[in-house]
Amino acid sequence: MHAISNRYRKEGRKIAFVPTMGYLHDGHLSLVRKAGQMAEIVIVSIFVNPTQFGPNEDFERYPRDEVRDLDLLKDYKVDVVFSPTREEMYPEDHVTRIHVDKITKVLCAVSRPGHFEGVATVVMKLMQIVQPDFMMLGQKDYQQAMVIQQMIRDLNSPVEIIICPTVRESDGLAMSSRNTYLNDKERKAALLVSKSLDEAVSMAEEGETSAEKICERIRELYDENGLISVEYVEAVHPRTLEPVRKLEEITLIAVAVTIGKTRLIDNVLIESGSKS
Ligand code: AMP
Repeated sequence: MHAISNRYRKEGRKIAFVPTMGYLHDGHLSLVRKAGQMAEIVIVSIFVNPTQFGPNEDFERYPRDEVRDLDLLKDYKVDVVFSPTREEMYPEDHVTRIHVDKITKVLCAVSRPGHFEGVATVVMKLMQIVQPDFMMLGQKDYQQAMVIQQMIRDLNSPVEIIICPTVRESDGLAMSSRNTYLNDKERKAALLVSKSLDEAVSMAEEGETSAEKICERIRELYDENGLISVEYVEAVHPRTLEPVRKLEEITLIAVAVTIGKTRLIDNVLIESGSKS
């Protein structure tokens, strides 16, 4: 992979990179499409990264289907699919970890200790291997994108991050490889996650400025449904991820819930009363 990238770079061709864990859906594919608009060369990686899963998480059962993924990618302009093995990425004597401080102490990090260290480490490794000019990330995993952006700034990496909007099912549910875990009842309950964010936006549009009241309303909606167990509902500053009490110029409302055995996250940016 490194040699191929070196060749592209010598030829003066720009590289756009889309890191994924596979089991691709339209969310991933929107990143691939954007990559094609950003650069002449598009590289997609597929690697279910073991270091970002906790010991009791779903690494083993995470959905995998590389044949299907490659088939889906055929419809797009993709130059290389990089799909390393676990042993190639983490040989036995691999001991280095990247730790991004501060923004990895809140939101998802509370219930997933070590998760962002695993993410930062694998993304830095992939960046070293692929040497992209641009890297496409999804707003769906907002905190992840902020952690990567922070790492890139702090370590003076020349990669430009492009954050792409969350792609949703027609009923609003944010697309996720983990949605395949949901049974019919759980799938219905999961709809409340995006609905609650719509409600947050409506409240802001109608003049509500208290972030606390908005979060309270979201929790209420979840509590009314017996299947949803809330992990967090928070209003935070979009870059520092520090909690805010009043809506600011831009506020991130981020939620994480568990439905059955499936953990789902979603978020919305409220921009002085309008959503993006
Ligand atoms: P994953 O395979 O879940 O690690 O995701 C790979 C990339 O796709 C990450 O940058 C995600 O944020 C992004 N992504 C996942 N789901 C969506 C979605 N529904 N819309 C947009 N981007 C997404």
